[in-house]
Amino acid sequence: KSARPRTALNECVKVVVRCRPLSEKETLEGYDEVVQVCPERGAVRVLNSKGQDKVFTYDAAYDASADNQTIYDEMVRPLVASVLDGFNGCVFAYGQTGTGKTHTMQGSPTDEGVIPRAFRHIWAHIENAASPDVTHLVSCSYVELHLEDVRDLLAKDGKKLTIRGQELNGFYIPEMTSVVCKSAAEMVRVMTAGARRRAAACTDMNEHSSRSHAVFLVTVEAAHKHTHVIRVGKLNLVDLAGSERQRKTNASADRLREASRINQALSSLGNVISALAENSPHVPYRDSKLTRILQDSLGGNSKTIMIANIGPAQYNYDETVTTLRYAHRAK
Ligand code: ADP
Ligand code: MG
Repeated sequence: KSARPRTALNECVKVVVRCRPLSEKETLEGYDEVVQVCPERGAVRVLNSKGQDKVFTYDAAYDASADNQTIYDEMVRPLVASVLDGFNGCVFAYGQTGTGKTHTMQGSPTDEGVIPRAFRHIWAHIENAASPDVTHLVSCSYVELHLEDVRDLLAKDGKKLTIRGQELNGFYIPEMTSVVCKSAAEMVRVMTAGARRRAAACTDMNEHSSRSHAVFLVTVEAAHKHTHVIRVGKLNLVDLAGSERQRKTNASADRLREASRINQALSSLGNVISALAENSPHVPYRDSKLTRILQDSLGGNSKTIMIANIGPAQYNYDETVTTLRYAHRAK
Protein backbone atom coordinates (compact mmCIF):
# COMPACT_ATOMS: atom_id res chain seq x y z
CA LYS A 1 0.00 0.00 0.00
CA SER A 2 1.17 3.51 -0.76
CA ALA A 3 2.63 5.68 1.99
CA ARG A 4 0.46 8.65 1.02
CA PRO A 5 -1.36 10.26 3.88
CA ARG A 6 -4.69 8.58 4.27
CA THR A 7 -7.34 10.59 2.49
CA ALA A 8 -10.95 10.78 3.56
CA LEU A 9 -12.82 7.55 3.11
CA ASN A 10 -14.72 7.20 -0.13
CA GLU A 11 -18.37 8.01 0.47
CA CYS A 12 -19.36 5.90 -2.53
CA VAL A 13 -18.56 2.69 -0.67
CA LYS A 14 -20.88 1.62 2.12
CA VAL A 15 -20.55 -1.48 4.26
CA VAL A 16 -23.46 -2.56 6.40
CA VAL A 17 -24.13 -5.57 8.62
CA ARG A 18 -27.48 -7.30 8.93
CA CYS A 19 -28.21 -9.87 11.64
CA ARG A 20 -31.14 -12.21 11.02
CA PRO A 21 -33.41 -13.45 13.82
CA LEU A 22 -32.87 -16.85 15.45
CA SER A 23 -34.69 -19.41 13.32
CA GLU A 24 -37.56 -21.40 14.77
CA LYS A 25 -35.30 -24.42 14.98
CA GLU A 26 -32.55 -22.48 16.76
CA THR A 27 -35.10 -21.13 19.23
CA LEU A 28 -36.54 -24.60 19.88
CA GLU A 29 -33.08 -26.00 20.41
CA GLY A 30 -32.38 -23.26 22.92
CA TYR A 31 -29.38 -21.59 21.31
CA ASP A 32 -28.10 -18.45 22.97
CA GLU A 33 -27.83 -15.27 20.96
CA VAL A 34 -24.29 -13.92 20.97
CA VAL A 35 -24.81 -10.88 18.73
CA GLN A 36 -26.02 -7.46 19.86
CA VAL A 37 -26.67 -4.75 17.32
CA CYS A 38 -26.72 -1.06 18.11
CA PRO A 39 -28.31 0.53 15.03
CA GLU A 40 -27.84 4.08 16.35
CA ARG A 41 -24.07 3.67 16.27
CA GLY A 42 -23.81 1.22 13.39
CA ALA A 43 -22.18 -1.12 15.90
CA VAL A 44 -22.23 -4.88 16.28
CA ARG A 45 -21.05 -6.61 19.47
CA VAL A 46 -20.31 -10.34 19.71
CA LEU A 47 -19.74 -12.32 22.87
CA ASN A 48 -17.62 -15.46 23.07
CA SER A 49 -18.29 -18.35 25.44
CA LYS A 50 -16.13 -16.74 28.13
CA GLY A 51 -18.25 -13.60 28.00
CA GLN A 52 -15.51 -11.53 26.34
CA ASP A 53 -16.76 -9.16 23.69
CA LYS A 54 -15.65 -7.67 20.40
CA VAL A 55 -17.22 -4.55 18.90
CA PHE A 56 -17.12 -3.52 15.24
CA THR A 57 -18.66 -0.45 13.61
CA TYR A 58 -19.96 0.05 10.07
CA ASP A 59 -21.83 2.58 7.97
CA ALA A 60 -24.98 0.98 9.32
CA ALA A 61 -26.01 -2.10 11.31
CA TYR A 62 -29.41 -3.76 11.28
CA ASP A 63 -30.89 -6.18 13.78
CA ALA A 64 -33.63 -8.76 13.35
CA SER A 65 -36.34 -6.09 13.50
CA ALA A 66 -35.19 -4.47 10.24
CA ASP A 67 -37.12 -5.58 7.18
CA ASN A 68 -36.14 -5.38 3.53
CA GLN A 69 -38.16 -2.20 3.09
CA THR A 70 -35.99 -0.42 5.69
CA ILE A 71 -32.77 -1.67 4.14
CA TYR A 72 -33.96 -0.65 0.70
CA ASP A 73 -35.08 2.82 1.74
CA GLU A 74 -32.06 3.64 3.87
CA MET A 75 -29.24 2.06 1.89
CA VAL A 76 -30.18 0.87 -1.58
CA ARG A 77 -32.65 3.56 -2.73
CA PRO A 78 -29.97 6.29 -3.02
CA LEU A 79 -27.75 3.94 -5.04
CA VAL A 80 -30.56 3.04 -7.48
CA ALA A 81 -31.41 6.75 -7.74
CA SER A 82 -27.87 7.44 -8.88
CA VAL A 83 -28.10 4.61 -11.43
CA LEU A 84 -31.17 6.44 -12.79
CA ASP A 85 -28.95 9.54 -13.05
CA GLY A 86 -26.53 7.62 -15.27
CA PHE A 87 -24.02 6.23 -12.78
CA ASN A 88 -23.15 2.61 -12.07
CA GLY A 89 -23.71 0.71 -8.85
CA CYS A 90 -23.26 -2.65 -7.17
CA VAL A 91 -25.10 -4.21 -4.26
CA PHE A 92 -23.50 -7.32 -2.73
CA ALA A 93 -24.96 -9.77 -0.24
CA TYR A 94 -22.13 -11.47 1.64
CA GLY A 95 -22.18 -14.05 4.43
CA GLN A 96 -22.10 -17.71 5.37
CA THR A 97 -24.86 -19.93 3.99
CA GLY A 98 -28.11 -19.55 5.90
CA THR A 99 -27.57 -15.99 7.13
CA GLY A 100 -30.01 -14.25 4.77
CA LYS A 101 -28.25 -13.29 1.51
CA THR A 102 -31.07 -14.54 -0.68
CA HIS A 103 -33.66 -13.25 1.79
CA THR A 104 -32.09 -9.81 1.44
CA MET A 105 -31.74 -9.87 -2.35
CA GLN A 106 -34.79 -11.85 -3.54
CA GLY A 107 -36.90 -11.69 -0.40
CA SER A 108 -39.82 -13.83 0.66
CA PRO A 109 -43.52 -13.71 -0.20
CA THR A 110 -44.12 -11.51 2.87
CA ASP A 111 -41.07 -9.27 2.51
CA GLU A 112 -39.95 -8.51 -1.04
CA GLY A 113 -36.19 -8.29 -1.39
CA VAL A 114 -33.88 -5.58 -2.66
CA ILE A 115 -33.96 -6.83 -6.28
CA PRO A 116 -37.73 -6.63 -6.94
CA ARG A 117 -37.84 -3.35 -4.99
CA ALA A 118 -35.18 -1.93 -7.28
CA PHE A 119 -37.25 -3.04 -10.32
CA ARG A 120 -40.31 -1.19 -9.03
CA HIS A 121 -38.25 1.87 -8.12
CA ILE A 122 -36.81 2.01 -11.65
CA TRP A 123 -40.24 1.78 -13.29
CA ALA A 124 -41.82 4.29 -10.91
CA HIS A 125 -39.07 6.69 -11.95
CA ILE A 126 -39.57 6.02 -15.66
CA GLU A 127 -43.33 6.49 -15.42
CA ASN A 128 -42.83 9.68 -13.44
CA ALA A 129 -40.29 11.05 -15.88
CA ALA A 130 -42.47 10.16 -18.87
CA SER A 131 -42.07 12.75 -21.59
CA PRO A 132 -42.37 12.54 -25.37
CA ASP A 133 -38.75 13.73 -25.60
CA VAL A 134 -37.15 10.96 -23.57
CA THR A 135 -37.13 7.25 -24.34
CA HIS A 136 -36.05 4.77 -21.72
CA LEU A 137 -34.63 1.37 -22.42
CA VAL A 138 -34.23 -1.15 -19.62
CA SER A 139 -32.41 -4.41 -20.20
CA CYS A 140 -31.43 -7.30 -17.98
CA SER A 141 -28.69 -9.90 -17.93
CA TYR A 142 -28.15 -12.65 -15.42
CA VAL A 143 -24.98 -14.68 -15.03
CA GLU A 144 -23.66 -17.18 -12.58
CA LEU A 145 -20.01 -17.66 -11.64
CA HIS A 146 -18.95 -21.07 -10.47
CA LEU A 147 -15.28 -21.98 -10.28
CA GLU A 148 -13.82 -20.74 -13.57
CA ASP A 149 -17.13 -20.78 -15.43
CA VAL A 150 -19.41 -17.88 -16.23
CA ARG A 151 -22.84 -19.18 -17.26
CA ASP A 152 -25.56 -17.24 -19.01
CA LEU A 153 -28.75 -17.80 -17.02
CA LEU A 154 -30.88 -16.07 -19.66
CA ALA A 155 -29.73 -18.26 -22.55
CA LYS A 156 -31.87 -21.34 -23.24
CA ASP A 157 -28.91 -23.69 -22.90
CA GLY A 158 -27.32 -21.76 -20.02
CA LYS A 159 -24.19 -21.58 -22.13
CA LYS A 160 -20.72 -20.77 -20.85
CA LEU A 161 -19.50 -17.26 -21.53
CA THR A 162 -16.04 -15.87 -22.12
CA ILE A 163 -14.77 -12.66 -20.54
CA ARG A 164 -12.83 -10.49 -23.00
CA GLY A 165 -10.85 -7.28 -22.76
CA GLN A 166 -8.25 -6.16 -20.27
CA GLU A 167 -7.96 -3.99 -17.23
CA LEU A 168 -7.01 -0.79 -19.06
CA ASN A 169 -10.01 -0.57 -21.39
CA GLY A 170 -12.36 -2.67 -19.35
CA PHE A 171 -13.56 -6.25 -19.40
CA TYR A 172 -16.73 -7.30 -21.17
CA ILE A 173 -18.72 -10.41 -22.06
CA PRO A 174 -19.59 -10.18 -25.75
CA GLU A 175 -22.09 -13.04 -25.90
CA MET A 176 -24.05 -12.32 -22.75
CA THR A 177 -27.83 -12.32 -23.30
CA SER A 178 -29.54 -9.01 -22.73
CA VAL A 179 -33.34 -8.98 -22.46
CA VAL A 180 -35.25 -5.74 -22.96
CA CYS A 181 -38.02 -5.36 -20.36
CA LYS A 182 -41.06 -3.10 -20.34
CA SER A 183 -42.16 -3.37 -16.72
CA ALA A 184 -41.10 -4.41 -13.23
CA ALA A 185 -43.27 -7.53 -13.55
CA GLU A 186 -41.45 -8.52 -16.72
CA MET A 187 -38.11 -8.09 -14.95
CA VAL A 188 -39.30 -10.38 -12.15
CA ARG A 189 -40.29 -12.97 -14.77
CA VAL A 190 -36.85 -12.76 -16.38
CA MET A 191 -35.18 -13.13 -13.00
CA THR A 192 -37.36 -16.10 -12.07
CA ALA A 193 -36.66 -17.84 -15.37
CA GLY A 194 -32.93 -17.34 -14.81
CA ALA A 195 -33.14 -18.65 -11.26
CA ARG A 196 -35.02 -21.71 -12.53
CA ARG A 197 -32.32 -22.36 -15.11
CA ARG A 198 -29.74 -22.11 -12.35
CA ALA A 199 -31.61 -24.67 -10.28
CA ALA A 200 -32.28 -27.06 -13.16
CA ALA A 201 -28.61 -27.68 -13.74
CA CYS A 202 -27.98 -29.21 -10.35
CA THR A 203 -29.35 -31.84 -8.01
CA ASP A 204 -29.23 -29.75 -4.85
CA MET A 205 -30.10 -26.14 -5.50
CA ASN A 206 -29.27 -24.90 -2.00
CA GLU A 207 -25.89 -26.52 -2.05
CA HIS A 208 -25.19 -25.24 -5.53
CA SER A 209 -26.28 -21.67 -4.83
CA SER A 210 -24.10 -21.59 -1.75
CA ARG A 211 -21.06 -22.26 -3.95
CA SER A 212 -21.65 -19.88 -6.83
CA HIS A 213 -22.12 -16.14 -7.27
CA ALA A 214 -25.24 -14.85 -9.04
CA VAL A 215 -25.00 -11.46 -10.74
CA PHE A 216 -28.17 -9.77 -11.98
CA LEU A 217 -27.36 -6.77 -14.17
CA VAL A 218 -29.88 -4.05 -15.03
CA THR A 219 -28.95 -1.42 -17.62
CA VAL A 220 -31.07 1.72 -17.77
CA GLU A 221 -30.68 4.01 -20.78
CA ALA A 222 -32.41 7.33 -21.22
CA ALA A 223 -32.16 8.86 -24.71
CA HIS A 224 -33.15 12.47 -25.33
CA LYS A 225 -34.78 12.98 -28.73
CA HIS A 226 -33.55 16.52 -29.45
CA THR A 227 -30.20 16.72 -27.70
CA HIS A 228 -29.31 13.11 -28.62
CA VAL A 229 -27.81 12.75 -25.19
CA ILE A 230 -27.90 9.19 -23.92
CA ARG A 231 -27.51 8.52 -20.24
CA VAL A 232 -26.64 4.97 -19.22
CA GLY A 233 -26.59 3.58 -15.69
CA LYS A 234 -25.79 0.00 -14.73
CA LEU A 235 -26.98 -1.73 -11.59
CA ASN A 236 -25.42 -5.02 -10.49
CA LEU A 237 -27.24 -7.04 -7.85
CA VAL A 238 -25.03 -9.80 -6.52
CA ASP A 239 -25.89 -12.79 -4.31
CA LEU A 240 -22.42 -14.05 -3.39
CA ALA A 241 -21.34 -17.63 -2.70
CA GLY A 242 -21.42 -18.64 0.97
CA SER A 243 -18.34 -17.41 2.81
CA GLU A 244 -18.12 -20.38 5.20
CA ARG A 245 -14.83 -22.17 5.63
CA GLN A 246 -14.91 -25.74 4.44
CA ARG A 247 -14.06 -28.22 7.19
CA LYS A 248 -11.02 -30.26 6.20
CA THR A 249 -12.51 -33.48 7.51
CA ASN A 250 -15.26 -35.04 5.37
CA ALA A 251 -14.60 -32.81 2.37
CA SER A 252 -13.41 -34.30 -0.90
CA ALA A 253 -10.37 -32.89 -2.67
CA ASP A 254 -12.67 -31.33 -5.28
CA ARG A 255 -14.77 -29.67 -2.63
CA LEU A 256 -11.70 -28.28 -0.88
CA ARG A 257 -10.39 -26.88 -4.14
CA GLU A 258 -13.76 -25.34 -4.84
CA ALA A 259 -13.88 -23.82 -1.34
CA SER A 260 -10.44 -22.34 -1.71
CA ARG A 261 -11.45 -20.82 -5.06
CA ILE A 262 -14.51 -19.24 -3.46
CA ASN A 263 -12.39 -17.84 -0.64
CA GLN A 264 -9.97 -16.38 -3.18
CA ALA A 265 -12.79 -14.69 -5.09
CA LEU A 266 -14.35 -13.28 -1.93
CA SER A 267 -11.04 -12.06 -0.59
CA SER A 268 -10.22 -10.46 -3.94
CA LEU A 269 -13.58 -8.69 -3.81
CA GLY A 270 -12.76 -7.52 -0.29
CA ASN A 271 -9.41 -6.20 -1.52
CA VAL A 272 -11.08 -4.27 -4.35
CA ILE A 273 -13.70 -2.76 -2.05
CA SER A 274 -11.16 -1.77 0.57
CA ALA A 275 -8.89 -0.21 -2.11
CA LEU A 276 -11.87 1.80 -3.34
CA ALA A 277 -12.92 2.79 0.17
CA GLU A 278 -9.40 4.11 0.83
CA ASN A 279 -9.17 5.87 -2.55
CA SER A 280 -6.10 3.77 -3.26
CA PRO A 281 -4.47 4.41 -6.67
CA HIS A 282 -4.28 0.70 -7.42
CA VAL A 283 -7.46 -1.38 -7.42
CA PRO A 284 -6.76 -5.08 -8.05
CA TYR A 285 -9.67 -5.86 -10.40
CA ARG A 286 -7.75 -8.48 -12.31
CA ASP A 287 -7.44 -10.89 -9.41
CA SER A 288 -10.80 -12.62 -9.90
CA LYS A 289 -13.45 -13.15 -12.56
CA LEU A 290 -16.05 -11.60 -10.29
CA THR A 291 -14.18 -8.29 -9.96
CA ARG A 292 -13.31 -8.34 -13.67
CA ILE A 293 -16.89 -8.52 -14.82
CA LEU A 294 -17.89 -5.85 -12.30
CA GLN A 295 -14.96 -3.52 -12.96
CA ASP A 296 -16.97 -0.77 -14.67
CA SER A 297 -19.43 -0.73 -11.78
CA LEU A 298 -16.81 -0.67 -9.03
CA GLY A 299 -14.89 2.55 -8.59
CA GLY A 300 -14.91 5.77 -10.59
CA ASN A 301 -18.27 7.43 -10.03
CA SER A 302 -19.91 4.14 -9.09
CA LYS A 303 -21.52 3.41 -5.77
CA THR A 304 -21.05 0.16 -3.89
CA ILE A 305 -22.96 -1.35 -1.00
CA MET A 306 -21.80 -4.49 0.76
CA ILE A 307 -24.46 -6.05 2.97
CA ALA A 308 -22.74 -8.54 5.27
CA ASN A 309 -25.23 -11.01 6.70
CA ILE A 310 -24.76 -12.83 10.00
CA GLY A 311 -26.74 -15.17 12.27
CA PRO A 312 -27.13 -14.53 16.01
CA ALA A 313 -26.65 -18.06 17.38
CA GLN A 314 -23.73 -19.16 19.49
CA TYR A 315 -22.75 -22.06 17.23
CA ASN A 316 -22.10 -19.57 14.42
CA TYR A 317 -19.72 -17.49 16.54
CA ASP A 318 -16.54 -18.22 14.57
CA GLU A 319 -18.11 -17.62 11.16
CA THR A 320 -19.84 -14.50 12.45
CA VAL A 321 -16.56 -13.02 13.67
CA THR A 322 -14.93 -13.92 10.33
CA THR A 323 -17.73 -12.08 8.47
CA LEU A 324 -17.55 -9.07 10.79
CA ARG A 325 -13.78 -8.85 10.23
CA TYR A 326 -14.15 -9.17 6.47
CA ALA A 327 -16.79 -6.45 6.37
CA HIS A 328 -14.74 -4.22 8.64
CA ARG A 329 -11.62 -4.64 6.56
CA ALA A 330 -13.58 -3.88 3.40
CA LYS A 331 -13.95 -0.32 4.63
P1 ADP B 1 -28.48 -17.55 2.38
O1 ADP B 1 -28.97 -17.11 1.06
O2 ADP B 1 -27.47 -16.60 2.98
O3 ADP B 1 -27.98 -18.96 2.40
P2 ADP B 1 -31.26 -17.40 3.12
O4 ADP B 1 -31.59 -16.06 2.60
O5 ADP B 1 -31.69 -18.56 2.33
O6 ADP B 1 -29.69 -17.51 3.43
O7 ADP B 1 -31.83 -17.47 4.60
C1 ADP B 1 -31.86 -18.66 5.38
C2 ADP B 1 -33.18 -18.76 6.13
O8 ADP B 1 -33.33 -17.70 7.06
C3 ADP B 1 -34.37 -18.64 5.19
O9 ADP B 1 -35.38 -19.52 5.65
C4 ADP B 1 -34.81 -17.21 5.33
O10 ADP B 1 -36.17 -17.04 5.06
C5 ADP B 1 -34.48 -16.91 6.78
N1 ADP B 1 -34.11 -15.48 6.97
C6 ADP B 1 -32.96 -14.91 6.57
N2 ADP B 1 -32.91 -13.62 6.91
C7 ADP B 1 -34.06 -13.34 7.55
C8 ADP B 1 -34.62 -12.17 8.16
N3 ADP B 1 -33.95 -11.01 8.18
N4 ADP B 1 -35.83 -12.28 8.73
C9 ADP B 1 -36.51 -13.44 8.71
N5 ADP B 1 -36.04 -14.59 8.17
C10 ADP B 1 -34.84 -14.55 7.59
MG1 MG C 1 -28.89 -18.12 -0.77
